[in-house]
Amino acid sequence: MPPGTNKHRIVKVAVPCPLYKTFDYILPASLSSKCLQQGTRVRVPFGRQKLIAIVIEETRGSEIPANKLKPVIAVLDDHSLLSTEILKLLFWSAQYYVHPLGDVLQTALPVYLRSNDDATPVLTEYWAINLAQQLSVNEVHELLQRAPKQQQLYRLLLAADKNGKDTGLDSYALNSLTDSWRPAIKALQEKKLIKHAYKPAVLVAKKTSTNSIQLNKDQQQALASIESHDQQHAVHVLNGVTGSGKTEVYLALCKSILADGKQILILVPEIGLTPQLTQRFLEQLDTTVAVLHSALNDRQRYAAWHAAATGQARLIIGTRSSIFTPLPELGLIIVDEEHDGSYKQQDGFRYNARDLAIVRARNNNIPVVLGSATASLETLNNIYEQRYIAHYLKNRANKRPMPRIELINLCNQKLHEGMAETMLTKIQQHLAQQGQVLLFINRRGFAPLLMCHDCGWTTNCLRCDAHMTFHKRRKLLQCHHCGAQRPAPEKCEACGGSNILAIGAGTERIEQYLQQAFANTQVSRIDRDTTRNKGSLQEKLQQAHSGESGILVGTQMLAKGHDFPNITLVGILDTDQALFSADFRAAEHLAQLITQVSGRAGRAEKPGEVLIQTHHPEHPLLQTLIHHGYISFADAALKERMAAGLPPSRHLALIRCEAIDANAAQTFLNKAIACSEQLAINDVEIFGPLPAPMERRAGRYRYQLMLQSAHRKPLHQLLSRCAPQLQQLPAARKVRWSIDIDPYDTY
Ligand code: ADP
Ligand code: ZN
Ligand code: ZN
Repeated sequence: MPPGTNKHRIVKVAVPCPLYKTFDYILPASLSSKCLQQGTRVRVPFGRQKLIAIVIEETRGSEIPANKLKPVIAVLDDHSLLSTEILKLLFWSAQYYVHPLGDVLQTALPVYLRSNDDATPVLTEYWAINLAQQLSVNEVHELLQRAPKQQQLYRLLLAADKNGKDTGLDSYALNSLTDSWRPAIKALQEKKLIKHAYKPAVLVAKKTSTNSIQLNKDQQQALASIESHDQQHAVHVLNGVTGSGKTEVYLALCKSILADGKQILILVPEIGLTPQLTQRFLEQLDTTVAVLHSALNDRQRYAAWHAAATGQARLIIGTRSSIFTPLPELGLIIVDEEHDGSYKQQDGFRYNARDLAIVRARNNNIPVVLGSATASLETLNNIYEQRYIAHYLKNRANKRPMPRIELINLCNQKLHEGMAETMLTKIQQHLAQQGQVLLFINRRGFAPLLMCHDCGWTTNCLRCDAHMTFHKRRKLLQCHHCGAQRPAPEKCEACGGSNILAIGAGTERIEQYLQQAFANTQVSRIDRDTTRNKGSLQEKLQQAHSGESGILVGTQMLAKGHDFPNITLVGILDTDQALFSADFRAAEHLAQLITQVSGRAGRAEKPGEVLIQTHHPEHPLLQTLIHHGYISFADAALKERMAAGLPPSRHLALIRCEAIDANAAQTFLNKAIACSEQLAINDVEIFGPLPAPMERRAGRYRYQLMLQSAHRKPLHQLLSRCAPQLQQLPAARKVRWSIDIDPYDTY
């Protein structure tokens, strides 16, 4: 140890960078009074930058001589903003996902804290009707006669206040309801018709509906069985068909946990798509709620996070990254739609929030509930191996029968923009009986490609192994993989011919065709293209609910959580692609999708019907699914996975690598093989380098190594020892590479 080292306080920190190591800094005398608790943020010099790093520990010595250590610039917090509990989860995650600690901690920290020294939370600003003004609604309208925008806003605020006094609307709500509202709101404020105020980032849930639902027998049984574990750790799986009343079970559970003074974390796939779920919690419980979603700005999100971390908010509803919210009195975690792919982060720190929910619940000795109508094969396997406890809700809560599912054999049939005559006749029938129709196709745009009829030229993306999708209304070609776009060609770019065909059909084409074929019915398309503008999704959902739109055409956005009572026919237009996909989870995803989308049919009085188009009606997957249901399908699929040695029978990890130069990517992966061979760890099989199913994307060649093992331990040993070495390789500088533990897909 160099002389004098022990005179200084030395601190080990995690720096927000993707390096597999921590860094030591010296604490200068001017900061010697500061406390350096684990998790405290400090500002440190790093290369030419000054970064916010996180204290791991204070150490006595360093491998680096004291006179070479750089000093900490500032200690930003007087205590850690991350609880011991969250830090434990994060350290565990960094190891499990073999991901650099600095990057893991960075991901967990609210963006606001990554860039602002001051951690004082800001209050949320909001606007509400000024109750002190004495004018009647009619008088106000007269006053605002020439200001339609102000009138609109006034009406919105009136509506918002109906649920409870002074709820008002914050900028997030206003943004989602309308555009360019600031000047008008300011004018209303100046007229003293409304007030502008600040409130903490918590919502107040207030039980408004008086006629509470009596749980049915299955629900009661599930609830009792979950509660019989006395709030000790257990993983409960609530397997309930769509509409079976899972949410009611969550609500009942929440009531008792909240009554015990505990906090609850509810993870949902996407909040924007399912505002109804949040609404139900707000209307059925009496508590404080923080909603963490991506549409909040950094300040708002931090404020909500802070409310959760200090215990002000008792119920937290959030998407994937909310799993890292500190919750001092956490008593229950619920993961809704546990099978949903959005729980897995697909770049950088590739964690799975569902799996981390289980780890977190185990660490805290509290229960976790995974809910789904279509549980993932992993989860089902864990039930069969008795690690998880299953509870089944086999029937719809409102006693409606499950819809009848039938296959339409497309072979040799005359097709209209990809739809069989049988499908069109059925649509006609359901509309005639005042039913609504939902058509599902997982492809947006007009057609997946254009082709020259003279020479066969197709619209390929220059940077990907993929076609560019034709968007007719916007007159452009767009690559859905790299985002590239250009004007749609009027002539063939190879032969100059003008005989250009649009091949295949997406939502836009189906919408156009149906609008012509059913001219008296409003056809509404719901996909990412039609819901880009603020409020347009809400508006479209509203039109669907009110029955204004008779036919809904949509992508998987429509498969999630919406309850359209009047839908009697669901058509699934395209299944063949998934039946023959190279991805090992494709069949599982297709079955989940079919089941979820089918669940939208016949929710109310009228019976529902589901039609699935395919060229392969005899396919065993489809046969099992429609005749015996999702669980039987899943059991069969699980057997196939076991036979093939795929997850969950064996554990899987990928080392992904991409580079402009295909050789560089392969070279790097070959070095990775050499590195792992040197470690001589048994029981891990390595396949590759294999090209990714889409070999070139956004101008980069993509290759991967697939690592498989019957046990996690050797797999993790190998990767955690290899990763720091690979980072040092000169070959690593020419590529982008990453480790993906428990990959969701192999693309
Ligand atoms: P899931 O979450 O399983 O899709 P929900 O909880 O949304 O199901 O319930 C579906 C519908 O059935 C909702 O309209 C809900 O109010 C109603 N419902 C749920 N449980 C009951 C019950 N025990 N009695 C009557 N209606 C119920
Ligand atoms: Zn041509
Ligand atoms: Zn592309």
